[in-house]
Amino acid sequence: MTMPFTAPESYVSSVIAAGEPDADSLCFAFQQTLLLVAGEAPGLRLPAHWELANLGRPPLRRLYLGTLGLRACYAFEYGADTEAPPGMLWQGLRALYGRLDDSLFALAGRALQYIDWDRTHQFCGRCGTPMRHREGERARECPACRLIAYPRIAPAVMCLVRRESEILLARSPHFPPACTARSPASSNRASRWSNASRARCWRKPESASPIRAISPASPGRSRIR
Ligand SMILES: [Zn+2]
Repeated sequence: MTMPFTAPESYVSSVIAAGEPDADSLCFAFQQTLLLVAGEAPGLRLPAHWELANLGRPPLRRLYLGTLGLRACYAFEYGADTEAPPGMLWQGLRALYGRLDDSLFALAGRALQYIDWDRTHQFCGRCGTPMRHREGERARECPACRLIAYPRIAPAVMCLVRRESEILLARSPHFPPACTARSPASSNRASRWSNASRARCWRKPESASPIRAISPASPGRSRIR
């Protein structure tokens, strides 16, 4: 099964572009965390490189991502006051899930993290000297103290725990009484939930009320709520 959040099989990461962006290039243009897309029913598409000229200003930064199949991939960042041209819009990635091709959606998440890393590593965190791109790899290096900063692609893990027709959910005490709980371990945020503040309950997927709750202090013993 192909997961939309993993790197596509035909994607090859690289930092050395064979040339300049052309009509076949895939362009991931961001304004802060928003991706520029062109609206066309039933889905959405990325803008062509020539269409980026309609933004009326040059990008703040441009990164080469590698290739998807035979198509070169680039990430761009534009200023916060850059307006989308007619027929396009800035859109958050979460809202694009299912509306953008799965491969492009996966690369968009990676592109956004690379752009954020590049933006936040302009200066050395140790001595304050302007950083420069390290030749041949995706890294920034301080010319003064030689500190090297690599991008950190944040992983996210979601799990589904089933018991016949029930699924295991977790909820925090600050949730409203009727609030639906969430999956018990999604990304590293789960580690912030201490056992004392976390309750786990089994629910039937179609049910709105808890079926059974398991005490965090004694997970092997269950009680009805
Ligand atoms: Zn330094």
